[in-house]
Amino acid sequence: MTHAFTSTRIVTPDGTRPGALLVEDGAVTSDGASGRIRAICSVAEIPGDAVLHPCGDCALMPGLVDTHVHINEPGRTEWEGFWTATRAAAAGGYTTLVDMPLNCLPETTTVEALQVKRRAAQGECFVDWAAWGGAVAENQSHILPLAKAGVAGFKCFLIYPGCDGFAMIHRDELEAALPHIAASGLPLLVHAESAGPIEEACRHLAETGADWRAYSTYLASRPDEAELEAIRMLLSLCRQYRFRLHIVHLSSALALPELASARVKGLPVTVETCPHYLHFAAEDIPHGSTLFKCAPPIRARKNREELWKALGNGVIDLIATDHSPCPPEMKQGNTGRFDQAWGGIASLSVALSIVHTESRRRGHTLDDLVRWMSAAPAALAGMGECAGALLPGRDANFIVFNTEAAFTLSADQLHYRHPISPYLGETVTGRVAATYLRGESVWNGSFEVTPRGKEITPWKMGKARRENARLINQ
Ligand SMILES: [Zn+2]
Repeated sequence: MTHAFTSTRIVTPDGTRPGALLVEDGAVTSDGASGRIRAICSVAEIPGDAVLHPCGDCALMPGLVDTHVHINEPGRTEWEGFWTATRAAAAGGYTTLVDMPLNCLPETTTVEALQVKRRAAQGECFVDWAAWGGAVAENQSHILPLAKAGVAGFKCFLIYPGCDGFAMIHRDELEAALPHIAASGLPLLVHAESAGPIEEACRHLAETGADWRAYSTYLASRPDEAELEAIRMLLSLCRQYRFRLHIVHLSSALALPELASARVKGLPVTVETCPHYLHFAAEDIPHGSTLFKCAPPIRARKNREELWKALGNGVIDLIATDHSPCPPEMKQGNTGRFDQAWGGIASLSVALSIVHTESRRRGHTLDDLVRWMSAAPAALAGMGECAGALLPGRDANFIVFNTEAAFTLSADQLHYRHPISPYLGETVTGRVAATYLRGESVWNGSFEVTPRGKEITPWKMGKARRENARLINQ
């Protein structure tokens, strides 16, 4: 059966237009087109037997793809988990999450650990998911097996990741891993902060008896230079080994000129930033408000505006949440000490509303939002041919987005395991009215009963390899 979702604004790769999104429902048809997009057409072209779903002035957009999520399961399900993270995602307009390989136990650094994760995810997911594998100090021989087993790419840390178990990688270990990563054709995602400038800053703060309840102390402890130094090293390794490099959660705008020039020179590097860097400013963070702690840190207002400019001119490709929850007590709300609190901000359910509010204020369009939060992340994860766009033949993963709904963010809208957030009380514009996965509603103000999400394995589809080969050889 065909369903016709009508709207004055359907956001497609060729621009935003009025019309109807025709979707084949979940029943398998003779051509196997279940849950797929059949066409995008004018209202006059809707087939006579189609079931109508008028969406009025709500925009129809592809489901968002979040390539930076810490689901923490198996092993730390008391922090988050597939069930809670994917529900929060569905309510936030995401239809695909890519899980980070750390903070779960075991960490996703071997095929065996990936299999344990797959068992944990079974029957628990309201949206689709994929896994990043870890590149750690000594798992070079696991890189290609992990790629073949279906991870979307690899993640490494150049600095202590805040949690024991997932070993940060030193330059010589990284150089041992890079030929394997380059051979896989998959991207390497890097937490780009170097330890040197941070250790030096912390020594200075200790000598001067800094107040760790002040946000300015935390900001001073993770200077721009840490990001800059790490990014310089990565760009030089990228030139040498020609692997696909992705800088996660860029916070410092000082690194933008060098990233821009690397891209002009054809290096296969992409860049992400996060909603918290695009919304908050260091000047406004209250004393002792450790809910705002993340790494790298939220920087000054002027820096934030530079990040927005870089999204506008394409030096920053995408926005991912870095959804990184923890039990509330780990945020050290009682002491307000930034040195002791867990670093991480969870935002799956609210990221789109936040980014929409901020982007509209700066004159950006829904097409921009879709590029940053759906198409570009899908391409990074090797899903560029199956997710991230409303096109005939694709899975009907889409959202109904009410761009005019203004509301105040409250804890009951968060849906992840521990509903704490520095965003509570903020007034935003833009609410996800409904989220569809393969043509079936997973969220429309409440959740569908049955989780229908599945794992996406780009390598097995051969798409990631083609995509990466194209980027690396262009
Ligand atoms: Zn992260």
